[in-house]
Amino acid sequence: MAPPPAEADMWPDGVVPMCFQAPAEADGWARAKVMDAAAAWEAVARVEFDIRADCAGSPTSGPGRRIPIRIDHDPELFASASHLGVNLVRGGTITLNAEYLVTNRICGRRGSVGREGCFYADALHELGHALGFSHDHVSPRAPDCVARMSTPEPEVADETYYDAASIMNYCNPERWKGQLSPADVCSIRAAYGDPLGQRPTRASCYAMTGARERT
Ligand SMILES: [Zn+2]
Repeated sequence: MAPPPAEADMWPDGVVPMCFQAPAEADGWARAKVMDAAAAWEAVARVEFDIRADCAGSPTSGPGRRIPIRIDHDPELFASASHLGVNLVRGGTITLNAEYLVTNRICGRRGSVGREGCFYADALHELGHALGFSHDHVSPRAPDCVARMSTPEPEVADETYYDAASIMNYCNPERWKGQLSPADVCSIRAAYGDPLGQRPTRASCYAMTGARERT
């Protein structure tokens, strides 16, 4: 997971208000995967995704706004989060793709993970952004992997945290399996606390990736 997020990106109480935008009946399986991904985060840290079944009726702006989760159908589209963490309140959206990259050898029809598995892994990743986490592969320690080169992002020169096994790392070839790494779990707990409210130090999460915390 990328290092624990900056305080300014965190939800103050760990509760993320969301809703499904224009939920289509055919996407029921995809919404179930989003709920499973939310539960995976909630199981390891004191966070709560408060996801309404339909955005209809929720305010579209102002303090009561819920973050819309858009489920798209486009064989080419990558999932995305428009903002990190609490900054999503400023008009942000989470976009997921139910028509998973049919050409991808892992996610396609004959792939080892398949469409639903890849969708789940993407949901886990995008909900990580919704909690405030950035990408591991912005660290100069990341390799020049193909997935990173095809969606270039500015390098953060002084970011030493780099977790090869993170769900937030494009260069992690296992990320489609949809697992949180031990350092992912450390990072989320350093930010929001574990289910009992205990927090490992940020420095201990950095140490798990062989790095020292930036000061
Ligand atoms: Zn991402």
